Amino acid sequence: MDVVWTDLHRHQNPKLEINLGQPIPTYERAERAETIRRQLETDARFRFVGLEEHGRAPIEAVHDHGLIDYLETAWPQINRATGRSEFAPEAMLHVGLRDGMSAARPPHGAAAAFGYWCYETATPMVEGTYLAARASVDVALTAADKVLAGASSSYGLCRPPGHHAARSVFGGFCYFNNAAVVAHHVASTTGTKVTVLDVDYHHGNGTQQIFYDRDDVQFVSLHGNPNRAYPWFIGHEDETGAGKGAGTNLNVVFEAEAEDDEYVDRLGIACESIAGFGPSMVIVSLGLDTYWNDPISDLALTTDGYRRCGEVVKQLGLPTVVLQEGGYDIEAIGRNAHAWLSPFV
Ligand SMILES: [Zn+2]
Repeated sequence: MDVVWTDLHRHQNPKLEINLGQPIPTYERAERAETIRRQLETDARFRFVGLEEHGRAPIEAVHDHGLIDYLETAWPQINRATGRSEFAPEAMLHVGLRDGMSAARPPHGAAAAFGYWCYETATPMVEGTYLAARASVDVALTAADKVLAGASSSYGLCRPPGHHAARSVFGGFCYFNNAAVVAHHVASTTGTKVTVLDVDYHHGNGTQQIFYDRDDVQFVSLHGNPNRAYPWFIGHEDETGAGKGAGTNLNVVFEAEAEDDEYVDRLGIACESIAGFGPSMVIVSLGLDTYWNDPISDLALTTDGYRRCGEVVKQLGLPTVVLQEGGYDIEAIGRNAHAWLSPFV
């Protein structure tokens, strides 16, 4: 199995996130990806390959151009204005702020505009954020190229992750939605249907938003109930798609402490829905924060449970691109990624 990798992820190196109002060491750190790389390197069945650049166009196809421009240009202005080496927003655009009025416009200052384009406080910007976020998209697209060229599966070791980034807003450690860029790219260039299967602990709100009214991309997400889990305001089971996309969005929510057997059973049922949709490719948003010891989540999967999950998805018999999303128990993340991927090699 090809593993697409780049050192450029190391340019995304913030030290802090604002968590419940307090600055804490960020959970989304470079060591996550490095640990997975070291683990997969011990198994010769995984072949490491570099990324190929795909330019801005595939990102422009799913994200607001203003969002891309902001991420590309804001850092020098913020750094000049604040003197800080990393930055998170002070005020964010709330839906009630201009209730009954025309839509808000982004403020001119890049520091103030942060809260126009970002919806929370755990997703800071540093000097290398844009470089790393662009590289992460290229890792995902390169992984998809391998499958489009005939491989049965591939793995993009994406960092930063992507599934919380919506069309015109970023957050949740995510800047560009890697899985959504790939899904749109594959659906639009092949004229076939595609499924994004998101197994991160947190609902893939960005991916759902981007494809909510489309009938060519199915979104299936298994995640902690948003009544008690980030991203809080989206990801309920009664969100099933709209317009042409009615019926193409499937949310499966879990209560705390759910274990392997329940998870594998419900993943199997979700896969029946995928088979019914009839996609030409499955893009997996692979989060490993459903692990029992994850520091920010509350499910209870084990390393062997991940192997079983990979087995269930493999049994779909569809070309599969696996893209890394979350997972914050750094001690375990390498062997958990290896376990999930092992049925595919
Ligand atoms: Zn997550």
